[in-house]
Amino acid sequence: MQASTDRAELRASGAHLPATELLRCRGLVKSFAAVRALRGVDFAIAAGRVRGLVGENGAGKSTLVKIIAGVYAPDAGTFELEGAPMHFSGADDALARRIVTVHQDINLVQTMTVAENLLLNNEPTYGFGIIRRRAMAEKVSQLLRLYEIDVEPDAVVSELPNDLKKMVQIVKGVSLDPKILILDEPTSSLTESEVQVALRLIRRLAESGVGVVLISHYLNEIFAVCDDLTVMRDGEVVADGPVAETNLAQVVTAMVGRHVETHRRAEATPSRAKESSPLMRVEDLSIPGRLDAISFELGHGEVLGVTGLAGSGLGELAKAIFGADASGRLGGRVILDGKTVPPRDPAASLKAGLALITGDRRREGLLLDFTLKENICLPILSRFTGAAGRLDGSAMTEATTRNITRLHIRAPGPEALASQLSGGNQQKVLFAKWLETRPKVFVMEDPTIGIDVGAKAEIRAIIDEIAAAGVGIVLITTELEELVTLCDRVLVMFRGQLVTELTGAAIRRESILHAAACGEELAVPA
Ligand code: ADP
Ligand code: MG
Repeated sequence: MQASTDRAELRASGAHLPATELLRCRGLVKSFAAVRALRGVDFAIAAGRVRGLVGENGAGKSTLVKIIAGVYAPDAGTFELEGAPMHFSGADDALARRIVTVHQDINLVQTMTVAENLLLNNEPTYGFGIIRRRAMAEKVSQLLRLYEIDVEPDAVVSELPNDLKKMVQIVKGVSLDPKILILDEPTSSLTESEVQVALRLIRRLAESGVGVVLISHYLNEIFAVCDDLTVMRDGEVVADGPVAETNLAQVVTAMVGRHVETHRRAEATPSRAKESSPLMRVEDLSIPGRLDAISFELGHGEVLGVTGLAGSGLGELAKAIFGADASGRLGGRVILDGKTVPPRDPAASLKAGLALITGDRRREGLLLDFTLKENICLPILSRFTGAAGRLDGSAMTEATTRNITRLHIRAPGPEALASQLSGGNQQKVLFAKWLETRPKVFVMEDPTIGIDVGAKAEIRAIIDEIAAAGVGIVLITTELEELVTLCDRVLVMFRGQLVTELTGAAIRRESILHAAACGEELAVPA
């Protein structure tokens, strides 16, 4: 197995260090309003060791890390730092004790240069005056060379791609000379070679005695560099111990726990999908460095799930199918109902019968200051326009009211502003808008993200209903629940490639998670 070779290499010299405990937390509890993010968590960090922290989205990993970093105060629980009881009074206090955290979000000062960011809060003897610039630049160049980051010290952070921003953020953390270094999903936005640099850096730090915590969904990375592993689920620690004493299958099982699921569509559709020629064929969609020759077919009335980790190319794929790609380097083609859709032309895609709901409904989907009527009828204005170019307002009202009823949109009426609605109801308006274009294929990215449980269930029912009417659905999502209960087939992406296809009863949380985290299929039979 790939992971064990890497691991032998990466861990070769650090295996026999004595484990001195740096930090221990006991019984950490933290709630946000009704959400119990941590329900009594014990966690320890030892000098010279790397502890992996894994768990599904929402398990509580970032909350735990933010408490250790002094960002949040826990509701209950105790800390010991090198054996002595202690209280954190905030993030600066944690930093002063050399507990450094590289948070999940990029928190660099975007308007400053790489050099300024790297030295911020770090080099009190240097000002930002002209005289010191040269000395600063030299120190920074040295850091960047040491960590193999190909970026100019004078580059403004806002202009860097995300992977380089992340690398700068990591180096900034390391340059603070930590005793404990916590990395919250550092690798999701990195390229393959940057991942290798980061993993080597982590091992090197551990060998010099730093206690490292690594949060990652990439289980192969966890197995490659970690000495110990903590698995969290629903705010609790469900497994904890040396990496050498566990394996991938055990870890995945601990992550997902027990779930009772029904595959409502599992039997009905494969035959439906096969009965006729495919509704849509996607051939070799590529964006250099982001999407690698993605090909698949979609049947009439089929719900095809596509999933993967953050950074695996899901967002790019959604836009690429619709011909909406900002890079200008999109290759491949989409064939809908036997006809090639003109490439790189969203308007032509729409005309050919494609609809797209992106993951960012606030920015790209709805006009919040406009009425429901305007939002729903805007893409299809021609249908309501008479010979003299006059809009038929009553037909628009009628179409809007029909959608309000059909999708159970809770709103005062067609003239209500989109901004007045809850997130779930806004999402339904977005569905209405696209359904009115009468699409043949509906591509949706994270259609239920950020909305409450009740609205989630309603939107899933709507998706099921649309498919039952013969529309092909590409459901791009990271929600396991949605993939397992709603999809006829699931494709898994890994760093820009399609790596696995699961059908019917083989669509299980474990299999999906494993393929997404490792880029390969789960070898263990069902
Ligand atoms: P993970 O990092 O494992 O994905 P988090 O620690 O971010 O999980 O979240 C754990 C739970 O706490 C989730 O249900 C999340 O929605 C909730 N949560 C986290 N931070 C906040 C916050 N600032 N306000 C409200 N809820 C939060
Ligand atoms: Mg997190």
